[in-house]
Amino acid sequence: MKECTNQVSHRPFAPGLEPYLNQTTNVLDHGFIRVVDYMGTEQCIVDAARTSYQRGTERKQEDPKLIRYLMRHQHGTPFEMCEIKFHVKLPIFVARQWIRHRTASVNEASARYSILSKEFYIPSEDQLAVQSATNRQGRGEVLEGAQAKRVLTLLQHDAELCYQHYEEMLNDPSSHDYEPALQSLSRELARMNLPVNFYTQWYWKVDLRNLMHFLALRADSHAQYEIRVYAQEMLKVLEAWLPNVYQAFIDYEMEAYKVSAQGKKVLRKMTQLLERNDQLTTLINETIPDRREREEFLLQFGLNMQ
Ligand SMILES: Cc1cc2nc3c(=O)[nH]c(=O)nc-3n(C[C@H](O)[C@H](O)[C@H](O)COP(=O)(O)OP(=O)(O)OC[C@H]3O[C@@H](n4cnc5c(N)ncnc54)[C@H](O)[C@@H]3O)c2cc1C
Repeated sequence: MKECTNQVSHRPFAPGLEPYLNQTTNVLDHGFIRVVDYMGTEQCIVDAARTSYQRGTERKQEDPKLIRYLMRHQHGTPFEMCEIKFHVKLPIFVARQWIRHRTASVNEASARYSILSKEFYIPSEDQLAVQSATNRQGRGEVLEGAQAKRVLTLLQHDAELCYQHYEEMLNDPSSHDYEPALQSLSRELARMNLPVNFYTQWYWKVDLRNLMHFLALRADSHAQYEIRVYAQEMLKVLEAWLPNVYQAFIDYEMEAYKVSAQGKKVLRKMTQLLERNDQLTTLINETIPDRREREEFLLQFGLNMQ
């Protein structure tokens, strides 16, 4: 199908993201992410928000503030006005975690239809770690020396062997030089022999609100390293695409944390004890320069220091 490439488009575009289009960023040993397409800019977000407030779009200098306000108060729908489509190559076990995010549209390579390539993930030595003693879902000390070598040999050997049997069952004459003993097994059955460190690929299209939800969970230090490295690359894409949204997302989501009712009670008391402290006043004024945001923050502690 012919695409229009030389016609002037009237679509809004994000200058920071344009250089990313169709550029592949390598992740893990054989994986990648690639931005295929996107829709929307920061202007689209503020326009949508102002439409819902029935206010004009004239206050340009207020746009970054409005974005921060929307993020701070979890007004999510204006962020749904932007979308992005990635092409991702990832190990099957990473895909299993990723696909738990139900609010995206996905098209995955079909191993019923095509033969999977002989590409499997082998962790780098610094990622080969023992089971964590404190976190059942985490890693502890890095394996060293002969132990690391043995694990790498097992991973490599098992993946090679499984792929060899996969090919034998597929019985694709172009893929081997030995005399086949078996009739061709269907691709949809032969694939079940492959371990979850083999790579798959998909197109993943998501709106900005759900992208940020994905990133908040998967770029976090609690996420498994192998999915986190994808999320970290996608954070860079977000920064290039929508810099004010990115900063607000870092400030109110990634670097923020929830405080329980009990924790808030303690914090309130601590802050009230320091209420007349000049150093605290200066710290608050300097750290949260925006007056409205500072008032909202202080109100949580029953304070009005201005
Ligand atoms: C560190 C970590 C450890 C995990 N460990 C496990 C584990 O041990 N076992 C396991 O099974 N999973 C585990 N998960 C997966 C986790 O439980 C979620 O399935 C995954 O993070 C997707 O989150 P989500 O449902 O919020 O996201 P999405 O599916 O992307 O949904 C986004 C948001 O849309 C809304 N939404 C979507 N679908 C519905 C619905 N049907 N009803 C109402 N609201 C909906 C919710 O607000 C949701 O937060 C883990 C995730 C992380 C990050």
